[in-house]
Amino acid sequence: MLTFTEDDLRELAGDEQFDRGLGLIDRVRDARELDDGQVVAVMDDGEPRETSLDVDTMESGCSCAETFCAHAVALGLWLLQMDDAPEALRPYLLGLDRETLADLLVEQAKADPGLLQLLSLMAVKASGDSIDTEAALRGIENLQLDEDLAAGDAEDYLGEAGQVVESLRQLVAAGFEDEAIPLVKRAVEVLDGSLGFLPDDIEDADECLTAATTLYARLVTGS
Ligand SMILES: [Zn+2]
Repeated sequence: MLTFTEDDLRELAGDEQFDRGLGLIDRVRDARELDDGQVVAVMDDGEPRETSLDVDTMESGCSCAETFCAHAVALGLWLLQMDDAPEALRPYLLGLDRETLADLLVEQAKADPGLLQLLSLMAVKASGDSIDTEAALRGIENLQLDEDLAAGDAEDYLGEAGQVVESLRQLVAAGFEDEAIPLVKRAVEVLDGSLGFLPDDIEDADECLTAATTLYARLVTGS
C-alpha cells in the first residue's frame, strides 16, 4: 500500500516537471523494489535514465541529476497505477461466473504455495472440521534459540521466522482466530527471547517479531 498521492508528486516536482512526467509513465521499464523501500527503474527519455524513488521518504535520485525530476514523477505515477490495478479489476471479476473464477484460483494456487495454504484452510473452516495445530506449534518451538547464532545462519533463521508468522496470519485470515491466539502468543514469546542471539549487524531482524506482536494485538482486541 502506497502512502503518497499524485498531489504529493506534483508538490515535490513542481507543475512543469509533473506535467512532463505524466507523458513518461509508459516508458517505465524494469521497475523493481529494493529491500529498503526504494524502487529503481530505467526509462527511455531520448536517452536511458536510471531513476530511484523511496516510497517511504519520497527521496529520489536520477541519472539526469535533477532533483525530483520528471522521471521520478513518472516512476511515482506508474507505482500508483500498479497499486490501484488489483482493485480496479473488482467489477470485472464480479461479472465472471463461478466456474471461471474457480478455474482461475485453482491455476493460481498451483503456482503459489501461500495461496494454496490459505484456500485449503478456508475449505477446512467451511466444512466445520477442526485443524491440528501441532505442526504449527513445532514450527514455532523450532525458532527457539538459546545461544548465539552464526552470522551465516541468520538469514535462514529469519526466513523461517517470516514463514511461521505468515502461516499464523493465514490461520487468522481463514477464520481460525481461537486456534491462532495461543500460537501467536507463543511465537511472540519465542521470538522475543531469541532475536538477541542473532548477530548485531543483521538489518530488520525484529521485523518478524513486530509482525507477530501486531497480529497478536489485533487478535486480542478483536479488531
Ligand atoms: Zn531524471
